[in-house]
Amino acid sequence: TADISTLSEKTLSTILEKDRTYYTQGKVADYIPELGKMDAKAIAFSVVGKDGKIFNAGDVHQKFTMQSISKIIALMIAVSEKGEANVFDKMGYFGSDKPFNYFSNLETTGKPLNPMMNAGAILTTSLISGDGEKPFLKILDMVRFITKNKTIDYSKTVYESEKSTGHRNRGMFYLMKNNGLISGNEDQLDNYFRQCSIELTAEDLAKIGYFFANHCVRFDGDATYKNAEMAKLVQSQMLVAGMYEFSGEYARTVGLPSKSGVGGGITVSVPGRMGIGVFSPSLDQHGNSLAGYHMILDLVKQYNLSLF
Ligand code: GLU
Repeated sequence: TADISTLSEKTLSTILEKDRTYYTQGKVADYIPELGKMDAKAIAFSVVGKDGKIFNAGDVHQKFTMQSISKIIALMIAVSEKGEANVFDKMGYFGSDKPFNYFSNLETTGKPLNPMMNAGAILTTSLISGDGEKPFLKILDMVRFITKNKTIDYSKTVYESEKSTGHRNRGMFYLMKNNGLISGNEDQLDNYFRQCSIELTAEDLAKIGYFFANHCVRFDGDATYKNAEMAKLVQSQMLVAGMYEFSGEYARTVGLPSKSGVGGGITVSVPGRMGIGVFSPSLDQHGNSLAGYHMILDLVKQYNLSLF
């Protein structure tokens, strides 16, 4: 294995070119109609390393929606407002062996398995205080803070597309309302759809990975939200449930806390060291970016980055 100090943009572009064609083996998500319009060939690879140094390769300016990756930000805000005990009184810490849209244990124990799958994530967002759009705006502001990128916003067209086709998510929302876990109205579900529609780049994702890898300190050293326990909590959920039902196998092959989204992004935290962001919209059968996974795996092997 190579020494991490040899990492360069050349390293990233070499891996990217090697893995570029994986997109042909997967499929761009189209269950949300707007997502189906993404260019399957787009690909980007980003690392934020020691002292916040940024390395980029590929379509670095390409924006995509963060989708499920927004769930880690919502978790951070809900826990900081309500306290961990109150949030996890309503859902479990369980790992995922089920797809993202699994109805969870809603019919049996009544509670979602974890905050990384849709049911738990919808519930998490509903726990953030404020009326109407306010909880969503807190999530958006936090994404802007972590990335130091005020231009980040959400895609209204993806949001509308999710809202008009997200019947399964709506079903979960009402089942949890029926179970007494959710108290608000459908504005809260709309906030979940909005957070999924936040658009960013692979570099932004690498900065998010870096933030949780470094006790919630930003890549430029800003320690406003420094919180080692929060970083532990979020990364532990990423490790056991961040890659849908592939999480267990991914822990074996990559061995790092990671969160993927059906928009084709994956954010990775290398605890105490760095953040990785990848993007390629073609997904495997679990909903994880195929080329993205392979780029992460190759980098991890080259520099022996697995935790284990
Ligand atoms: N907005 C998507 C949904 O709720 C997010 C899914 C994901 O990225 O896993 O269906």
